[in-house]
Amino acid sequence: MVANFNRLDDLRLASMNVKAECGNCGHVGIVDGPKLWRWFAIHRWDATMTKVADHMRCSVCRRHPTMLTPTETSPSMDFGPCSEAEWKAVVARLRR
Ligand SMILES: [Zn+2]
Repeated sequence: MVANFNRLDDLRLASMNVKAECGNCGHVGIVDGPKLWRWFAIHRWDATMTKVADHMRCSVCRRHPTMLTPTETSPSMDFGPCSEAEWKAVVARLRR
């Protein structure tokens, strides 16, 4: 069920993840959708799907991913804070 996937908000509501494909080296990574949404929210970045790649990097070659698609596959990589305390620390740093 992948309908109306325009913003990360849609992924969060549907509890979907994001498959990010790198057109340069071919690397594919699955990122936790709700976590990605929260990461964008605290940075106040534009969560429109066409803009999301601007803030993501291929973990192999550091280029921006060329294709982002919603998926129900479990995340294959981790990023960002891994506890509430770490989330709070990031927010505190951003708000300074
Ligand atoms: Zn790459």
